[in-house]
Amino acid sequence: MSAVEEIRSQFPILSRKVGGKPLAYFDNAATSQRPHSVIDLQQAMTVQHNANIHRAVHTLSNEATELYEKGRKAVARFIGAESENNIVFTSGTTASINLVAACFVRGGFLKQGDKVVISYAEHHSNIVPWQLACQTVGASLEVVPVEKDGTVDLQRLEAALTPEVKILAITHVSNILGVVNPIAQITEIAHAKGIPVLIDGAQGIVHRKVDVQAIGCDFYVFSGHKIYAPTGIGVLYGTEEWLEKLPPFMGGGDMVAKVTFAHTTYAEVPLKFEAGTSNITGGACMAPAVEFAQSVLENGEMAENEHLLDGAMRRQLASVEGLTLAAAEAKERIPLYSFTIEGVHPFDAATLLDKMGFALRSGHMCAEPLVDSLSQTGMLRASLMPYNTLEEVERFGEALRRAVSMLR
Ligand code: PLP
Repeated sequence: MSAVEEIRSQFPILSRKVGGKPLAYFDNAATSQRPHSVIDLQQAMTVQHNANIHRAVHTLSNEATELYEKGRKAVARFIGAESENNIVFTSGTTASINLVAACFVRGGFLKQGDKVVISYAEHHSNIVPWQLACQTVGASLEVVPVEKDGTVDLQRLEAALTPEVKILAITHVSNILGVVNPIAQITEIAHAKGIPVLIDGAQGIVHRKVDVQAIGCDFYVFSGHKIYAPTGIGVLYGTEEWLEKLPPFMGGGDMVAKVTFAHTTYAEVPLKFEAGTSNITGGACMAPAVEFAQSVLENGEMAENEHLLDGAMRRQLASVEGLTLAAAEAKERIPLYSFTIEGVHPFDAATLLDKMGFALRSGHMCAEPLVDSLSQTGMLRASLMPYNTLEEVERFGEALRRAVSMLR
């Protein structure tokens, strides 16, 4: 069995059919599928270990707590964090960014007249929370353009990092362009000016080995569901310095040390940021999910496979007349391809492709400012995972040519 077949065999959903055709799942940037190890633990958390965590002394609660904290430790190892105390579980990338933005406001780290810098290629999750934060205090948002190859314009970025800037929030990999930003270099540029950096790793964490200490960033955020885990669980990595100095986000149970009506003290980091009952199953499932991701990222055969898939996908896309691939000149990209086709509406193409068994994304893909600048009607996006095969990509090329000839 090849490495891809071996990986693929662990995802039961990939053997189902859609419209009587074998499913080719190409919407992985929206959410990935889950392997047996995650599905099995998800079920065991319900039928074996269901209890609330951190608060009781009984066996089930101890088991659930242990599994949840094991998930945290696994995430810390996976991203090279200093310790598990640097890992806050949230409900996803969006929640992690909202947490940091709100705490910057509440903690007085963003004030009237200050600025937040983002790039043009951000997902709405890394735009709107900062707009809300800026509106609350009377700060402003500065947006740095991207180059033709899809990476952020480093010269313009450096120029935008003025003394008023209180945080740079930037994507590791854009969910539209698929281009990998040089985040260690970007962090260095910002730190040279004393500006903290938040990296949106929702797409980057899936396809690149991340070492937060080597990058040097202050915050790195991502979602479990894009990296083999269930929905509703996400990660906020923060340096000890920042997690200690930021105030709590939400108040409630589990985030407190001592509560009186007059005064409340808070739990230690990271529980200070985890008010209420967490997504216990999701947290636990992060362990098998990131362990699976790690084994794939370390597999040399899979790196070669990504390269082969990229070549095949580019050949297939190039065979469609009038097709424009976004950031076609990218030096380094993940297997994510957004494109427009002259005379073909993306929704129509996606609907026809679905009938042929292909799951693709269409529209603005939650990055409206960027997509608007590339297209008037939205785009189509095919995003691959290590379980996608060359055969699927070749079949996709045929299906796409057929769809286009039917729609023109
Ligand atoms: N950032 C990027 C780059 C993304 O691709 C996504 C999801 O597509 C998000 C943020 C938001 O992730 P979530 O909806 O899981 O919070």
